[in-house]
Amino acid sequence: MGQRIHHAHYDVVVVGGGASGIAAAAAAARNGSRTLIIEAGPILGGELLSGMSLDGVLNARGEYVVGGISDELFAECRRMDGFIGPIHDHRLICYVCVDPEVMKIAVARVLARYGVTPWLYSFVEDVVADDGTVHSLAVVNKRGRTIVTADQFIDCSGDGDVAAQAGAPFEVSDRTGQLQPISLMFRMSNVQTGSLLKFAQAHPDSLAVGESDYIRGRHTDQELVDKLVEQGQPSLFFKSEGPFLGDAIRRGDLAPTALIMIQPTSARRKEVCVNATRVGGDIDGTDTRKLSATVATLMEQAWQTSVFLKGHLPGFEQADFAGLAPRVGVRETRRIMGDHVLSKDDVVSGRKYPESVVAKGAQHVDIHQSGTTQIRIPIANGGSYDIPFGCLLPKGLRNVLVAGRCLSASREGMGTARTMGPCLAMGQAAGTAAAMTRAAGLAEVRQLPMADLHGRLREQGAVLDGVH
Ligand SMILES: Cc1cc2nc3c(=O)[nH]c(=O)nc-3n(C[C@H](O)[C@H](O)[C@H](O)COP(=O)(O)OP(=O)(O)OC[C@H]3O[C@@H](n4cnc5c(N)ncnc54)[C@H](O)[C@@H]3O)c2cc1C
Repeated sequence: MGQRIHHAHYDVVVVGGGASGIAAAAAAARNGSRTLIIEAGPILGGELLSGMSLDGVLNARGEYVVGGISDELFAECRRMDGFIGPIHDHRLICYVCVDPEVMKIAVARVLARYGVTPWLYSFVEDVVADDGTVHSLAVVNKRGRTIVTADQFIDCSGDGDVAAQAGAPFEVSDRTGQLQPISLMFRMSNVQTGSLLKFAQAHPDSLAVGESDYIRGRHTDQELVDKLVEQGQPSLFFKSEGPFLGDAIRRGDLAPTALIMIQPTSARRKEVCVNATRVGGDIDGTDTRKLSATVATLMEQAWQTSVFLKGHLPGFEQADFAGLAPRVGVRETRRIMGDHVLSKDDVVSGRKYPESVVAKGAQHVDIHQSGTTQIRIPIANGGSYDIPFGCLLPKGLRNVLVAGRCLSASREGMGTARTMGPCLAMGQAAGTAAAMTRAAGLAEVRQLPMADLHGRLREQGAVLDGVH
């Protein structure tokens, strides 16, 4: 390990290479800043690579509520035959499915297009700040320690590591002290969609459908399952209240879980992603010892679920276990408190903030709990909600923005804005604002005229208007 201390300076430094971080870095570089993205892991993409659908990109009416960098990623996926496209779950939302293997390359292409410098295998371990200004980050990697200075910092670490260390206030959980469980996705290939959908159509009582008034209308479960099946995609959610999953849990074939979520990842490989495992309800994802201790259990749950599906679910008889997500997934840690705190009421009422909107979301409030329970609250009228700029501005900090899972929100607000659509949109807004602030020579990002930021975001494909 090198012992020398190195130094580096960039205009904008983004910490964390998940959905929000890659969008922030691409947007900052696109808008003229020399941009560095620092990622602790070996690859950029974060949870975007786990195989799950991108939620919150469209509202339940099928209208896009996020654009810009997300469009560029989708276009790259399409070029490589890895874009499956929007699917309606006839339960609560529409989502976008992509091939996560192709998404890895799409992310690398978009960042290279704008000239972003990536530092992988690099962990931000310390923050030097005084009086609300961050001066530098201490980054550790095999080269040793590097002190990185910048004009603007964007915290996309998911956990709010930079903002919290710089002194911004934050919250974890709520009065309940609960945290959403840790899960591990896995994929199965050679799934026969026809048999799977035939089984679904014959067992509507086992499937989660029509959970919002907007989608339910006057439809029966059977009608909603028929609509689901008409799409021809291996995309369905088995609910713990239904016989298929409920009986399996009661027999001890599966660990307790709220849903088995099955979504397509590749038509060519006949492959799906399965989201069904869970551990905890009280595990702090920033406690590395506790987080690491979940891995073996989650792997066993993933294997057990794959064996169960092969043995019990038509369409899976010849399926192969095709791989685990790159890492266990953490849904909930710190929420950094900012100028605006996105509330439950903001999201479920589909509130609009035309003066200050910088991103939108559309996924229901989705708070997984332990055992078989999960809170799911739909957005009014199948619409969307606005995320105001203040959700990205940590209280008391001048040159730091947050984006992604660690945004300023209540537990319920985060329970929807944490999905990948809004994370990409928040990242784009934060990167654009940081670059514009620097280019204008402003002392802090709060001095940036909103009209200028709105103009630039619209010009570059962001969705800021309407969408119900
Ligand atoms: C189990 C699970 C299921 C989910 N299901 C869905 C779904 O179906 N659809 C959907 O849209 N969303 C889903 N989500 C939510 C969504 O995937 C994430 O909330 C979102 O992708 C988070 O993006 P992010 O950029 O904020 O953080 P992340 O993707 O977590 O990226 C943060 C990155 O920062 C890096 N990092 C952290 N700290 C440091 C540091 N100090 N130094 C350097 N690097 C650091 C990490 O290595 C990581 O790569 C799910 C989440 C989980 C965990």
